Amino acid sequence: MSVKYDCAKCPGYCCSYPRIVVTNKDVKRLAQHFDVSEKEAAKRFTRVYRFDSEDEHIEERILKHSPDKVYKSVCSFLDQGKRRCTIYSARPTVCREYPDGKTCGYYSFLKFERKQQGDKDFIPSA
Ligand code: SF4
Ligand code: SF4
Repeated sequence: MSVKYDCAKCPGYCCSYPRIVVTNKDVKRLAQHFDVSEKEAAKRFTRVYRFDSEDEHIEERILKHSPDKVYKSVCSFLDQGKRRCTIYSARPTVCREYPDGKTCGYYSFLKFERKQQGDKDFIPSA
């Protein structure tokens, strides 16, 4: 499938999503990649997000974040200089599937803004 976005020209907005969910299978893949136990991988690279309200109960395992200069924070696996995933072959399923189509909404926005500003490196605040 030919796609209409170019991650090489993007600072990795999708990697700034606060809740990047990891499944047990993803933890296993990370453990194999770093040659550590699944328990150790879960502890080092993930945390549990919980949210409770009257209508909603969320409990999910997500990737840890680090502070970032471009966005407020990004996945700790993002190389903040090169803006590339450092664990590409071991990245979670949700990262493999995104943006799940021919287009990426953020990339379309980025392309539009760069054209408007006449600056190919412009990064709009998302
Ligand atoms: S936000 Fe879109 S264009 Fe940018 S890295 Fe993610 S998928 Fe690629
Ligand atoms: S694992 Fe890689 S692709 Fe997924 S959010 Fe982190 S840096 Fe981005």
